[in-house]
Amino acid sequence: MRRLLIAGNWKMHKTVPEAVELVRELKELVKDVTDRDILVCPPFTALYPVSQELKGSNIYLGGQNMFYEEEGAFTGEISPLMLKDVGCRFVILGHSERRHIFKEDDRLINKKVLSAVEHGLTPILCVGETLQERESGRTKEVVKKQVVEGLKGLTPESEFVIAYEPVWAIGTGRTATPELAQEVHEFIRNTLKELFGSEKAETVRILYGGSVKPNNAAGLLKMPDIDGALVGGASLKAESFSQIVKAL
Ligand code: PEP
Repeated sequence: MRRLLIAGNWKMHKTVPEAVELVRELKELVKDVTDRDILVCPPFTALYPVSQELKGSNIYLGGQNMFYEEEGAFTGEISPLMLKDVGCRFVILGHSERRHIFKEDDRLINKKVLSAVEHGLTPILCVGETLQERESGRTKEVVKKQVVEGLKGLTPESEFVIAYEPVWAIGTGRTATPELAQEVHEFIRNTLKELFGSEKAETVRILYGGSVKPNNAAGLLKMPDIDGALVGGASLKAESFSQIVKAL
């Protein structure tokens, strides 16, 4: 009942010509895919040209971050209205690089999540433990706090996606095993049941992220509570991303 969502997070990669070339190739490779959702999240500078290239395609566009205000004196920030204006339907929020490099905390991320929902953007709330937290047996505690704090103020009617991304698996080539990922995904779904009730929890897509590649995607995607992937490195080439899109 949950449609798979395969999302590409390009991070700080691709100039405008490179971004347009990548989606031109990707469009062709995935044009026959109808049973799952496909999303690309280019850097801000490439959003508009990419949205023009994606017109009429089966690929959604998303931002990698945003600020929660609509406009104002917030130098260097991008607002939900700006993301919508260039055709975004989704926005990644609370990515581990935002949390760890830019020191975003749950309170700030929650404000962004609420603002995204209010403006009709679907937030992809990223959560995940560090290696140290996992090794000290705190994975569930950490993930639960990020989910509960990040979603505060939302209702069962709110549209959102969760991405479970263990920090030790992002960009490291170290993927969580399908079983280990499934265990945390199931735990997140149970947390969503407590927060929003079973009916809602069964409809929320929980993506896995952390070194997803063409050779490990199918094993992850076939797990019952893994509803898609958030892909970094392997989304930078049309061929490898399209293989992940079509895995399973
Ligand atoms: C990410 O950017 O969210 C990510 C999971 O990166 P990678 O696939 O490169 O580990």
